Amino acid sequence: MDEGCNKVVIIGGGAAGYFAAITAAEKKPNAQVLLFEAGDRVLRKVKISGGGRCNLTHHCYEPKELSSHYPRGSKELRGAFHHWQPRDTIEWFETRGVKTKVETDGRIFPASDNSQSVIDCLRTEAKNLGVSEHLRTRVTDLKQTNNQWELEINQSEKIIADQVCLALGSLRGTGMEKTLTALGHIISPLIPSLFAFNLPEHPMVELAGISVPHAQAKTLPNGKPQHGPLLITHRGLSGPCILRLSAWDAQELATCKYKFEVEINWLGDHSLEKIKEVVSQYRKKFAVAKVSTNPSKELPKRLWAHLVDHAKISKDTTWAHLSKKEEQKLVKALGTYRCKVSGKTTNKEEFVTCGGVSLKQVDFRTMESKLAPGLHFAGECIDYDGITGGFNFQGAWTTGRIAGLAIATDPS
Ligand SMILES: Cc1cc2nc3c(=O)[nH]c(=O)nc-3n(C[C@H](O)[C@H](O)[C@H](O)COP(=O)(O)OP(=O)(O)OC[C@H]3O[C@@H](n4cnc5c(N)ncnc54)[C@H](O)[C@@H]3O)c2cc1C
Repeated sequence: MDEGCNKVVIIGGGAAGYFAAITAAEKKPNAQVLLFEAGDRVLRKVKISGGGRCNLTHHCYEPKELSSHYPRGSKELRGAFHHWQPRDTIEWFETRGVKTKVETDGRIFPASDNSQSVIDCLRTEAKNLGVSEHLRTRVTDLKQTNNQWELEINQSEKIIADQVCLALGSLRGTGMEKTLTALGHIISPLIPSLFAFNLPEHPMVELAGISVPHAQAKTLPNGKPQHGPLLITHRGLSGPCILRLSAWDAQELATCKYKFEVEINWLGDHSLEKIKEVVSQYRKKFAVAKVSTNPSKELPKRLWAHLVDHAKISKDTTWAHLSKKEEQKLVKALGTYRCKVSGKTTNKEEFVTCGGVSLKQVDFRTMESKLAPGLHFAGECIDYDGITGGFNFQGAWTTGRIAGLAIATDPS
């Protein structure tokens, strides 16, 4: 790792770092592109992502709509998606032999259902383009010296680079926060996103394993409702609907230390008015049947029984004997079910850190720092994050691609 000119260093061997390195090496063949990875393996998150299948992007090809899946960074990414979006990602991988498939919910996976095919593709491409990979190479500091960058490696060795791309992933625990702050960068608070809600000692956890396909949930008092499948687990609530909620309200939920109230509409496609109508139809249709016998096609039997119990309706009450007050309570249990959350559980399938290098300090046309020319950023270390569904990897491919391209076309 001698000093020299035209040296490009990409720091971080994840999805964003790889895409930046490959692009820089492809578009600037005379440059020496080095990829530094602190760990003993590259692309570790790609490997475990999507339960080992790697949900590499999402079937959404319209930049405006695509950007609406990012609770933070949506405005900045919208422009970036005009340069590199899921269609480009798919084409890129398919051209290199990774066939892809779209699932019914829009998530895109390699047809092999094996994240290793994505890893093999990226590593082969990088190798063919002459990117040199350096494992156990942690950048512990970086400083600008004239028009170059001095990097401290593993707190000892120093090397000089002409251009640098920071693709560190979550900044939590990287030790680079101080370095970036010293360069004038603002780091938005690093907090988790995409987590499940714990309901300690709540009777609902006895229903673990039950899922409702079209629920709606919001955090109280002012959360924006989110829709989608909701899963009851042995700890509390999970599933896409809850993970979306955790992403959109990540900052507020961190502030209240994950103690808050959530309100669920179990028939998420129906308004409260519609639920009232449905219940009154049940009353007419099933007069002699017990209310506790599930009349709904949409809700599982055990959940219905729980909701009737929650509304304090005796399990022997028939629809004909249901009082007006009990009917109102049942409507409330179905449409505005409230429960207290205390704590969170990190989702095993996918989790990200929200927060990172301030969006205002990065030029999303080049991913270059607005404060330090020659310093680029890509991936999760920037203050953007997406909901589940392949949006986080798409963010990494897009920002990595733009950073690599800008590095390659920089005249220095
Ligand atoms: C279990 C799990 C499953 C996931 N599944 C999906 C999914 O299916 N689809 C999806 O879209 N998203 C998924 N995500 C999110 C996705 O993995 C991330 O958004 C994505 O990996 C971010 O890429 P990155 O390159 O920015 O960061 P990373 O993949 O985190 O890579 C950063 C790399 O930089 C290295 N590094 C850090 N500091 C230094 C340093 N100082 N010097 C040198 N190297 C350093 C790290 O060791 C790491 O290898 C998942 C996340 C998790 C945790």
